[in-house]
Amino acid sequence: MGYSEGATTILRGFKVSVAVLDAFLAANGVHETYGTPNFYKDHPDNAPISKLLYNKIVGYAGAAGSDTDKNKFRVTMPRREGRTHSFVAYVTYAWLSVYAHRELRLEEDLPAEIPAGFEELRKEILSFAGPDKGIPESEKIGDDEGRMGLFAVYAHDLYGEYTPPWMVERYQAPQQCDQCDAVFTSPYVAWDQRQEHRIQVHGVRESRDPFPEG
Ligand SMILES: [Zn+2]
Repeated sequence: MGYSEGATTILRGFKVSVAVLDAFLAANGVHETYGTPNFYKDHPDNAPISKLLYNKIVGYAGAAGSDTDKNKFRVTMPRREGRTHSFVAYVTYAWLSVYAHRELRLEEDLPAEIPAGFEELRKEILSFAGPDKGIPESEKIGDDEGRMGLFAVYAHDLYGEYTPPWMVERYQAPQQCDQCDAVFTSPYVAWDQRQEHRIQVHGVRESRDPFPEG
């Protein structure tokens, strides 16, 4: 699975110019992005940006941040193969990725409630857009700077890498038939053997490589 096609992320959070985000990162000892997003696979424990966001949020939240979920906070940027670097970044407080299709249960998966400490983090990042910080207006996104909302962002390749749970399960062995007692134990091909068996023996109307929601 070294190759990734990327994925779309649906997120709640705010929009910020890369110039302002980078100024915030540099002031906190984290490398600027210059418009290239982090690899998603590094989130949340191996991505310096994600760690910085989380530490800021729990710092601001104080006692209210004792059960803050570090997985919620990350930076993503739009990225398509062959296009130039992004001008815009998004800072999340809730997100999910889409492999090909899935139902969006907003209240469950993308709750609108803003976690404690997030608004303070937003204000701190936006303070780098101030006139005293010297970022040219041409590098900022005007009225959209800091805009809160529900956004969809596609990032290609490893920048958007997302492996849905059903795909993770396919790489595991053993696999069991859901219609009889047959078990398939060969590493790597157990899921293929199970699928072949279900189609041949049970007449299941399914392709060899279906992609369910997720
Ligand atoms: Zn069977």
